[in-house]
Amino acid sequence: MAEIKCIGILTSGGDAPGMNAAIRAVTRTAIYNGFEVKGIMRGYKGLITNEIIPFKTQNVSNIIQQGGTILKTARCMEFMTPEGRKLAYENMTAQGIDALVVIGGDGSLSGARIFASEYNFPIVGMPGTIDNDLFGTDTTIGYDTALNTIMEAVDKIRDTASSHERLFFIEVMGREAGFLALNGAIASGAEAAIIPEIATEVDQLSELIGNGFRKSKNSSIVLVAESELTGGATGLAERVKNEFPQYDVRVTILGHIQRGGSPSASDRILASRMGEASINALLEGQRNVMIGIQNDELVYIPFSKAIKNQKPINRDLLNTIKILSI
Ligand code: ADP
Repeated sequence: MAEIKCIGILTSGGDAPGMNAAIRAVTRTAIYNGFEVKGIMRGYKGLITNEIIPFKTQNVSNIIQQGGTILKTARCMEFMTPEGRKLAYENMTAQGIDALVVIGGDGSLSGARIFASEYNFPIVGMPGTIDNDLFGTDTTIGYDTALNTIMEAVDKIRDTASSHERLFFIEVMGREAGFLALNGAIASGAEAAIIPEIATEVDQLSELIGNGFRKSKNSSIVLVAESELTGGATGLAERVKNEFPQYDVRVTILGHIQRGGSPSASDRILASRMGEASINALLEGQRNVMIGIQNDELVYIPFSKAIKNQKPINRDLLNTIKILSI
C-alpha cells in the first residue's frame, strides 16, 4: 500500500453538532503524526470544484464549542455520477491528497464506499448525524446534543400544554429512525413516542388513545418521528380531529433547531475520540471503515455493514415510556 502523506477531511450531508470537534481532532492527530492535512469545503462538492485549503493546527482553534461545520456541508448530485467522482479524484490527487476522512451520515458513507472502491485508496468514515441511525455504533456525533435540544423544547411546551389541558404532538427528526423520538420522550417525560420502526406493525395512535392515556392527566405530550410511515405530527393531529374530536390537539414541529447549538460534552468527547481513532485507523492500514463506539470501545465497522444494516431500536424503551407515564 502506498505511504500516506496528506489526508483530506470533509463534512457531508446533514450537519450535526460536534462536527467541528471532529474536524479539530482529525486535523490535530494527523499533524501530530506527521501528516499534511487539507480541508475540503462543502463536502464532495468541494472535491469537484477544487475548494481545498491547507490546514494547520490554527485552522481548527476555538471551534470545539461551535455547532455546524467550519468546512460547510452540501448535498452534491454530481458526485453520484462516475464522471463527477472522476473529477473529484483528479482534483484530489492533484492536491496531493492520498487518503480521506469523511464525516457524515448514511448517504455520505455510501458515497465514500463507492469512491474508495472505484479508485482504490483509503477512506475512513466518522458517523456524524443527529439521527443516530448508523449500524455498528452505539451513538453518532450530534445525537446527544439534539436529544438535549429536544428535551429543553419539550419542557417549555409542557408548561403551556398543561395550562391549557391540551394534547400536543411534537415532531422530531428521524425520517427512518425513532431514536430521537424514543429517547427524547423518556428524557422529557412524554406520554408516548410514535416511531417509524413499528409503524407497519401497529396503529400506534389508536393503541395510544385506546389505552385511555389521558385518564389521570390534564395534558399529554407525544413525540412523533417525522416520517411518511408515522404520518408526522400534522398527519396524526388530523386523524385525532376526525376520530377523537374530544381532544384539544396542537402540533409543534421542532425542525432545524434540532441540528444547531453548541455540542454537548458527550458529543465533544465522542467526536474527539473518534477523530483521533480515524487517524489511528489509517496508521494501522485500515481502509473503508467507519469508526464506531460500542460499550465505550472504539471499533472499526466496514462501510458495507454500517450502511446496509438497519440499526435496531430497543423496543423495551416503548414499554418504559408506557409504564412511566401512567
Ligand atoms: P447524509 O450523509 O446526511 O445521509 P445524504 O444522503 O444527502 O446525507 O448524502 C450526502 C451526499 O453524499 C450526497 O449529496 C452525495 O454527494 C453523496 N452520496 C450519497 N449517496 C451516494 C451514492 N450512492 N453514491 C455516491 N455519492 C453518494
